[in-house]
Amino acid sequence: MRYVSTRGGVEPLTFKAAVMSGLARDGGLFLPESVPDLSGALESLRTLSYAELAYEIMRHFVSDISETDLRAIIEKSYGVFRHPDVTPVVAVGPVHVLELFHGPTLAFKDVALQFLGNLFEHILNETGSSMNIVAATSGDTGSAAIYGVRGRKRIRIFVMHPRGRVSPVQELQMTTVTDANVHNLAVEGTFDDCQNIVKDLFNDLEFRDECELGAVNSINWARVLAQIVYYFHAALQVKEKTGAAKVSFAVPTGNFGDIFAGYMAYRMGLPIERLVLATNENDILARYFNSGVYSLGAVAATLSPSMDIQVASNFERYLYCLADSSPQQLRQWMADLKTKGSITTPDARHGCFAAGRGDTAMTLETIRDYWNRHGYLLDPHSAVGVAVGTRFIDESVPMICLATAHPAKFGDAVLRATGQDLARHALIDKLMGLPTRLEKAPADTAAIAAIVRRHIAAGA
Ligand SMILES: *Cc1c(COP(=O)(O)O)cnc(C)c1O
Repeated sequence: MRYVSTRGGVEPLTFKAAVMSGLARDGGLFLPESVPDLSGALESLRTLSYAELAYEIMRHFVSDISETDLRAIIEKSYGVFRHPDVTPVVAVGPVHVLELFHGPTLAFKDVALQFLGNLFEHILNETGSSMNIVAATSGDTGSAAIYGVRGRKRIRIFVMHPRGRVSPVQELQMTTVTDANVHNLAVEGTFDDCQNIVKDLFNDLEFRDECELGAVNSINWARVLAQIVYYFHAALQVKEKTGAAKVSFAVPTGNFGDIFAGYMAYRMGLPIERLVLATNENDILARYFNSGVYSLGAVAATLSPSMDIQVASNFERYLYCLADSSPQQLRQWMADLKTKGSITTPDARHGCFAAGRGDTAMTLETIRDYWNRHGYLLDPHSAVGVAVGTRFIDESVPMICLATAHPAKFGDAVLRATGQDLARHALIDKLMGLPTRLEKAPADTAAIAAIVRRHIAAGA
């Protein structure tokens, strides 16, 4: 399997090269040249463990890592999860909740970033080279990426978060990791500023080569790949339990990474009726799927900060599919976005997609309702997914709602919704009072580049 850039300006790469490259050198995102069809293999996948299933899915996309090595990377990555099913599904009221928060930082990002950390290490050990990761986070990617690479010899990581805009728990999860290879940068700006700086640094090819940059944001194909697995895992379990022929998924969405993995699963032949895209007040994607116009607005801070995003980096991957793999059309749309602030695509051929928005009042109401009626505590991101997902429930099709974070990461929202301090987790309580480390930085690409160079020069 080879990987092409959405912008069409580079030769196709192997899996390992695409993973190490992160963003393509023409500014595009990598996608597999073809999509494997697993519709005939579903029965044989049904009884596999999570790690076995992950291998059976990933092997179609990874042709340059041996079976033994890929299995070992997968087992190491999912062995650290606290639940034997890795991503269990529980029936709650009218929906099935897919719990993706049993990893080390209590958010779904661990599913991909534990895998990516082990994958990077494997490849760097083979080549004997090193890597400097530059990442942007709205809260959860940062800690998950840091836990994926902390203490690893050949890797240094710089994580930019918008100063004061991540939750206190998210900040603690990042800044209490004081390993020498971990650098937290508190940037005076928004998440979109941080994400733009990452893109600028990658597009500065000289800097990128000089500093051996690596990417952990969902621009990295390996993250999407790892996330495809739990769509299969959950759908197969729920089909088995309910006898339904098809399932639907509701996905709380920010950067379009998670739901793009669901879209890949759909294209691979997983029987998905609907993929429900759920946004908070930052509803550019929900508006797009209901109107065919993708038009930029301002970012608003909400109870679900990991979804407070305007420019959804992975949306480019979907646009490329919509453009029938035409880089010319894709480049035209990206140019429109730059010059006009919007993209209009022809008649929506959105197949499995449905979309809606869950605002702050609905988020709080959903958390309260699920706690009062079902004794189940949702975090505010997952609550957005449930609030929107339940609007699209069809009697005969189970609705699987992705729970993307443990409620203890967002205890303030839970307190506001229920009036009680219910959301606790020992892993978070343990962080209180630990020493922290962070560096303040302006929202300026040159200043961030200087910080990266300074640490590399100092060997720290
Ligand atoms: C990152 C994140 C999301 C959004 O995922 P995308 O892949 O960016 O769409 C939703 N919920 C939580 C808790 C997250 O950390």
